[in-house]
Parts: sequence; C-alpha cells; structure tokens
Amino acid sequence: AKKRVGGNYKFYNSEIEKRYYNKIELENDLKKAIRNDELFMIYQPQFDLSTEKLTGIEALIRWEHPRKGMISPVEFIPIAEETGLIVPMGKWILRTVCEQNKRWQDAGFDPIRVAVNVSIRQLQEDDFVDSVKEVIEETSLEPEFLEIEITENIMRNVSDLNHKLIALKEIGVTVSIDDFGTGYSSLNIISDLPIDSIKIDKSFIDGLVTKAKKQVLAKTIINMGHNLNFSIIAEGIETREQLSFLRNNSCNIGQGYLFSKPVSAKEVEEYFLN
Ligand code: C2E
Ligand code: CA
Ligand code: CA
Ligand code: CA
Repeated sequence: AKKRVGGNYKFYNSEIEKRYYNKIELENDLKKAIRNDELFMIYQPQFDLSTEKLTGIEALIRWEHPRKGMISPVEFIPIAEETGLIVPMGKWILRTVCEQNKRWQDAGFDPIRVAVNVSIRQLQEDDFVDSVKEVIEETSLEPEFLEIEITENIMRNVSDLNHKLIALKEIGVTVSIDDFGTGYSSLNIISDLPIDSIKIDKSFIDGLVTKAKKQVLAKTIINMGHNLNFSIIAEGIETREQLSFLRNNSCNIGQGYLFSKPVSAKEVEEYFLN
C-alpha cells in the first residue's frame, strides 16, 4: 500500500510540474507576443433586440502562438493578470481597438460603439484613466464610441473606484458591468456607480427556456437594471427561444452565436457595417 501512495504522489507531482513549466513557458512567450505581432482582436456584433439593428461590437483578444496554435484568452489572460503583463497588453488592446474603430469611421461606415474588456488589474493602476484619455486623444476617436467593460468584482478590489468611473464618464466613454450576477457586487454600490449598462452573464441565458428559476433571475436583473436606468445586454444567446424570451422581457441588446460568433475586422466590415 505504501508503494502505491508513493507512486500516486509522484504522478500527481509530475502533473503539477508539467502545468507549472507550461505556465512559465507561456509567460515567457506572452512577453514576446505583442512585439511579434501574435496578438490580434476579433469582434462580436451586438444587436438592438427591438429594431434588430447593429448597436455595437465587443472586442475579444486572440493569441496565435507560433508553435502551439491558437490559445484561448481564458488561458492566457489570467497569466497576464498575475504577472502584470496585462497592463501593457491592455494599453495595446485599447489602442488597437480605438484605431480600428476610427478607421471604420474614416472609411465612411456608420459609427458604432466598440466595447473593450478591462481587467481589475488595469483599473488598479493610478494612470488608467489617463491612459484611456491619451488613446482617445491620439486616435481622435469620439469617446462615445468606446465602451469599457469591467466585472463586478472590481467593487471589492479597486480603491477609489467611484472617482475613476466618474473620470471615465467625464472623458465621455461608456461603462458596462460584464458577467453581471456571477461576482460579488453589492446592489447598493452598483446603484451609486456611474455606469451605463449591465451584461447578464451567459450562465443565466443557458437554460433560460427550460429552467423557471433562470427566468425569474433574468427578469429580475432586467427590471432592476431598468429601474436604475441601465441598458441591459444579454450575452451568449444561442437559440431563438432564448432570444424571444429576452425580447418579450424588454432586454435591450443581445449578443451571441445565434447572431454571430466573433469575427475578424475584415468580416465586421463585410457583413455588419453599413
Ligand atoms: P467575456 O468578456 O465574458 O466574453 C464572452 C465570451 O463568450 C467570449 O469568449 C465569446 O467568444 C464567448 N461567446 C460569445 N457568444 C457566445 C455564445 O453564444 N456561446 C458561447 N458558448 N460562447 C459565446 P472568449 O473570446 O474566449 O473570451 C473569454 C474571456 O476572456 C472573456 O469573457 C474575457 O473575460 C476574457 N477576454 C477576452 N478578450 C479580452 C481582452 O481583450 N481583455 C481582457 N482583459 N479580457 C479578455
Ligand atoms: Ca466581456
Ligand atoms: Ca461577459
Ligand atoms: Ca463571461
């Protein structure tokens, strides 16, 4: 029996080791990824559920690793956050997205709002608001066409949050709370923050049609949000049934595979812009 325990331990240990070295390797590769042009943004359209018109798009990052192929942000964003790399990477993301959006406008397409995901770690930086301002000025994008997506958990982790959000509003960008309902937010705090919209997390949209409790939760979030004057976005819409439920319950904006997966900048132009 003793032997087996030892054997198991060794196996377990080598698995951990493998994961550890994989992480170190990714971390090192990630440092070079921006410079080597391996990161790029793709975009998922968002539609007004009553008019069916395009209202905006969400920018999502991708990493094409030279040997490992595509790596999901679910894997590398946490590493970027732990190491602090998310700070320069986040600046690159903001700049890339604002430049792209400005280019679309200059090419004569109807202006749309682009949403950018921002990590807690970025908002914790003292110069975060300044860096947004700088990008807006340098790209000459009108600020109303940039939306900042933050998660609920910032409420516990960013000091001076209210000031930072007020400063963002002063610049003229909009702010939305991502993955709403999954984090630790206090409704009391949320009602006091200068935010424009909340995004109902996909976990509420999954099972929306079959599970009565999910319906109650989704309806409650929509009603509460509207009473606080937020616009409501639903993410992860995959079926017609989910769509009609959301539409019937006055959700404002929808995003999900039912409409489109995230696509390249070129495809945004080809299929979605007017
Ligand atoms: P998120 O911000 O909640 O983004 C939504 C995720 O759901 C995206 O995954 C999107 O591709 C996926 N999705 C959209 N519609 C559907 C659908 O109908 N069905 C399903 N099954 N999935 C759908 P993605 O692109 O893999 O991103 C995962 C997460 O990585 C994001 O979650 C966000 O937290 C993070 N992330 C992605 N890009 C960035 C970025 O530029 N900066 C930061 N800080 N985080 C990012
Ligand atoms: Ca998001
Ligand atoms: Ca989300
Ligand atoms: Ca999510």
